[in-house]
Amino acid sequence: MTTTPNEVLRRIFGYDTFRGEQQEIIDHVVSGGDALVLMPTGGGKSLCYQIPALVRQGTGVVISPLIALMQDQVDALTALGVRAGFLNSTQEHAERDAVEKSYLSGDLDLLYLAPERLRSEQTLRLLARGRIALFAIDEAHCVAQWGHDFRPDYLQLSTLHERWPEVPRIALTATATPATHTEITKRLGLEGARHFVASFDRPNIHYALEPKNDPKRQLLRLLTGEHEGDAGIVYCLSRASVEKVAAFLQDHGITALPYHAGLDARTRAAHQARFLREDGLVMVATIAFGMGIDKPDVRFVAHLDLPKSVEGYYQETGRAGRDGLPATAWLAYGLQDVIQQRRLIDTSEGDDAHRRRLSAHLDAMFALCESVECRRVRLLDYFGQESTPCGNCDTCQTPPATWDGTIAAQKLMSTVLRLKRERGQSFGAGHLIDILLGRQTDKVQQFDHASLTVFGIGTELSEAQWRAVIRQLLARDLLAVTGDYGVVALTPESTAVLRGEHQVMLRHDPTTKTSKVPKKAK
Ligand code: ADP
Ligand code: ZN
Repeated sequence: MTTTPNEVLRRIFGYDTFRGEQQEIIDHVVSGGDALVLMPTGGGKSLCYQIPALVRQGTGVVISPLIALMQDQVDALTALGVRAGFLNSTQEHAERDAVEKSYLSGDLDLLYLAPERLRSEQTLRLLARGRIALFAIDEAHCVAQWGHDFRPDYLQLSTLHERWPEVPRIALTATATPATHTEITKRLGLEGARHFVASFDRPNIHYALEPKNDPKRQLLRLLTGEHEGDAGIVYCLSRASVEKVAAFLQDHGITALPYHAGLDARTRAAHQARFLREDGLVMVATIAFGMGIDKPDVRFVAHLDLPKSVEGYYQETGRAGRDGLPATAWLAYGLQDVIQQRRLIDTSEGDDAHRRRLSAHLDAMFALCESVECRRVRLLDYFGQESTPCGNCDTCQTPPATWDGTIAAQKLMSTVLRLKRERGQSFGAGHLIDILLGRQTDKVQQFDHASLTVFGIGTELSEAQWRAVIRQLLARDLLAVTGDYGVVALTPESTAVLRGEHQVMLRHDPTTKTSKVPKKAK
């Protein structure tokens, strides 16, 4: 008895129609073709390999790094009547034996494998003794060293094709920068595969990225002003800030729960279950939360810290509005975020090339924050997709006012230059601003910086405005911040500004717009 993809879609999954390119992808794999699928989170990638696995003879072998989710995935499939199992390191011996046995007797439609399983010759021999319908390589960007989620085990996956050249392979990812796309193709040998690239636009998501001044209050304004009673996720970088922000929101009458790797497994599972089940719950979490979470009515995703990459940002914000209804992706960023993350990168393990990649990821994310263009245009451009201004982001709706920051930039750069040339010293942003504002701080006295000719030459701007200037110069590579102490330094590009050959137009921070604005700075 042969079944068709359409029958499986209706009878097993209970859906009437395929979405986007699902049908073409499925038909292609069912007929034995290789495929590379680039589709945003929530686009419906799973069916693209699950249905071919059910239609073709044998077991669909799914390689997935999301070990923590395997049990859930298998349970969900089992509930639909699909025969599924998994093999990973968290399993008891007896359980593993049972799964292996049902694979060998042809009683499994889908077998989920952790990538490190394939390093063992034993697993490969096991696979060889059964019948394989297809290989699905989920989260395929993990093979790309350029990606943000590289796993060395994924490099092994090229051997699958050498061993089973006749078994079709389908690689899937929600990360689709041109660089990652190229690397996946090369490393998995998918040059001959059909590439299916879905649009990465999420038109129902409203993007808003604003400078931080009082982040918890800014968040509260978003939650009470625009999203009262809505379910949403608030991402923070550290466990400590997750706890603090969750407590802050609770104090203000919002049902908020914390989620991070420092909580015990039972608490985490309970919080996640409540988030999925209850209406209007706000989850305050580290990025440990969200992988594989399928809640359609998340109305907002808020970032209180700068994500490490545009890929990460896109994936996290992509959890908002999966039901297609309006949703908000809101982010607050500050100079301190950049300095802190730069420091983490500089002191991170790994080689220089690795650090350069991390820096490039951070720079791209930061540039998105400081962009005066449509956010969506910039975001899609990052994923290699051209578009026109969207009308549904902060910069489209309130085009940022700009001002000529050339003189401010020159004052700041001269301060950095003088300290270096005349004193052989370098300092972080805070002290530079103290000098520009002519503040008699302890440090100024200790180093006798009041005697510098640049001391007090920047009083036309407030401290917040100077921070905004530094941030924007950093985002455009006109300044650099390096080392353990967040020391600010000039870049090769700074010279043209200092010489007056390069005009620097800066955006007004929305939050400082009403405060002192430099008149025609002379
Ligand atoms: P991805 O892996 O791309 O993030 P999923 O495969 O988890 O996305 O699918 C996201 C959601 O969309 C799931 O709830 C899934 O059941 C649903 N879905 C997928 N395909 C269809 C379809 N053809 N019709 C209706 N719902 C679908
Ligand atoms: Zn826009």
